[in-house]
This record gives sequence, structure tokens and C-alpha cells, in this order.
Amino acid sequence: MRDYFAQIRPTMTFEIFPPKGSGDLASIFATVDALASLAPDLISVTYGAGGTSRENTVEIASQIQNSYAIPALAHLTCAGNSKEELDPVLRTLSENGVKNILALRGDIAEGEKLKDFRYASDLISYIKSRYDFRIFAACYPEKHIEAYSMEDDLRCLKEKADCGVDVLISQLFFDNELFYRFRDQAKSIGIDTPIVAGIMPITSSSQISRMVSMCGATVPEKVQKIIRAFGHNSMAMKEAGIAYATAQIVDLLATGVDGIHLYTMNQPDIAKRISENIRGILYSLRVKRG
Ligand code: FAD
Repeated sequence: MRDYFAQIRPTMTFEIFPPKGSGDLASIFATVDALASLAPDLISVTYGAGGTSRENTVEIASQIQNSYAIPALAHLTCAGNSKEELDPVLRTLSENGVKNILALRGDIAEGEKLKDFRYASDLISYIKSRYDFRIFAACYPEKHIEAYSMEDDLRCLKEKADCGVDVLISQLFFDNELFYRFRDQAKSIGIDTPIVAGIMPITSSSQISRMVSMCGATVPEKVQKIIRAFGHNSMAMKEAGIAYATAQIVDLLATGVDGIHLYTMNQPDIAKRISENIRGILYSLRVKRG
């Protein structure tokens, strides 16, 4: 199996989420089948995001790694977990050959108390001290929604990166200029960890409102215009979303991004269209970098 990031730049990775509740896994593996045919460099599996179940992340990531021979990235959160609860999860992932963990604090439900880990950096230090995983972590081009200022958030990001993060994956954004500004700021304070750009194709106006209220991403006038014009027409909206995400990615690739992480929303048809649009460019960049 290829060694992710050691040889390949820029990377193309996909994110999926497990079904809600105890849910039937057949549909998620149909999604993985379709995504696997696009030969991504890695597929990541969320953990408890947006109310999805936590117990299936290990099973899905392990199958991606072993049955599909695609490097898997398992997300894990401080929220909802003590050391005792996380150790068996980490051991199983390791035994199943999963080499990559995205270590997150997680979103905290109202009234929820964190157990042994307060910040993602605590979880990263713990995993680094006991296990041998490649560590990914989250970063926020428009600052984390709870952070007081961009400067504070960047200072925390530097501390987190210094705990031994191998790759940072960004929160979704619709304005590339904000990503470039963030990348420059991160570099200027000594963060030299590769930063992969998280891209979520717009598929409906309700999806945008939900995401923006969750993460506070700026919706540029161009995107607002698309929503006004096509929000009532699902087919046109989907086409416009694919075109917008493609243009964002082409611009990012032209500006030397380390990688693209596509939030697929478990919609492989959209991932396929975008992958096909950028395949030639990605290939030419990879050839250039050897
Ligand atoms: P942290 O890095 O811990 O930061 C959280 C906040 O605390 C920030 O405001 C930061 O500035 C501040 N902070 C950090 N360290 C310190 C410190 N030492 N002192 C004071 N303040 C500090 N959520 C899920 O539940 N499941 C998922 O699978 C999931 N996947 C995600 C994937 C990606 C790529 C991204 C970008 C996000 C994902 N999330 C997921 C959401 C994420 O859990 C939330 O954004 C969460 O609110 C913050 O997580 P974090 O790991 O960035 O937290």
C-alpha cells in the first residue's frame, strides 16, 4: 500500500460518515465501493459527528484499510471518551492495521462534561505517548467558532501542532482567499505541518445554512448568488455546487495546496464528478513533483 504523504503531493482524500444509530452498514459500504473506484489517497471516517453513531467508525475504517486496501483515517474525539474508553478503540484500530487518527476535541453537547481530555492537544499527546499512529488534526481558516480571536486560535493551533501533528485538515470554506491568509499566518508563527484544504460541495441551501451555523464559514456573494438562482431547483443547484467546488479546487491546486479533503456527505456521484474534473491537473502536478 502507498505511504500517504510520504510520497504523494498534492493528495486527494475523501471523508464519509457512518449511518445514524446502530444502522445497517450495507449503504455505507456501497458508498465506499463507489469512492474506492476513484482511487483516493485515503478515506476518513467521522466519529459521532452530527449525531451519527460512534461504534461503527472502527469497523468501517478497518474494512476500508483491509478489504479495500485504501489507507483509512479514523476520527476520534475527546468528547464522550475517557482514557479507559479510548484505549480499546485505539488498540483495535492498531491491530486492524489502521495507521491514521484524526484527533479532535469534538463538539460538546449542552451540559456535557469532558472526561480525561479537554483539548485535542491532550488527546494527541496521549496517543503519541502510547501508540504509533500518524496524527491528523483540525484547523480553522476562519478561526474556530469558540475562539476569541484568530490570534488566540492560531496560538492554540501552534501548541497542538507541536504535540506531534503530521497533517492538518481544514474546516470547510468557500472563499479561498481566507484559506491563503490563514496558511500564511500559520507559516508566519512557525507551523510547518502540511495543511490540507477541506472542501464541501454545495448541494442545497439548507445544507449551507446548517454548515454555516455550525462552523461560521463566510458565504461569499458568488455562493449567495448561486443559492438565490438555483436553490429551488435541486438538479441545477447540484451542478452549480460541483462547478463551484471544482473551481475552488483548481485555484487551490494552482496555489500549491498540500492536498484536498473532500467532505463527500456520502454522495459518491458528486465526488466522482469533481474527481474527474481535476484528475488531469492532479496527475500533472504529481508527475512534476516526482
Ligand atoms: P481543539 O483543537 O481542542 O480546539 C477547540 C477550541 O479550544 C478552539 O477554540 C481552540 O482555539 C481552543 N483551544 C485549543 N487548545 C487550547 C488551550 N490549550 N487553551 C485554551 N484554548 C484552547 N467533530 C466530531 O464530533 N466528529 C468528527 O468526526 C469530526 N470531524 C472533523 C473533521 C474535520 C476536518 C474538522 C475540521 C472538524 C471535525 N469535527 C468533528 C468538528 C470538531 O470536533 C469541532 O470543530 C470541535 O469544536 C473542535 O475540535 P478541535 O479538535 O479542533 O478542538
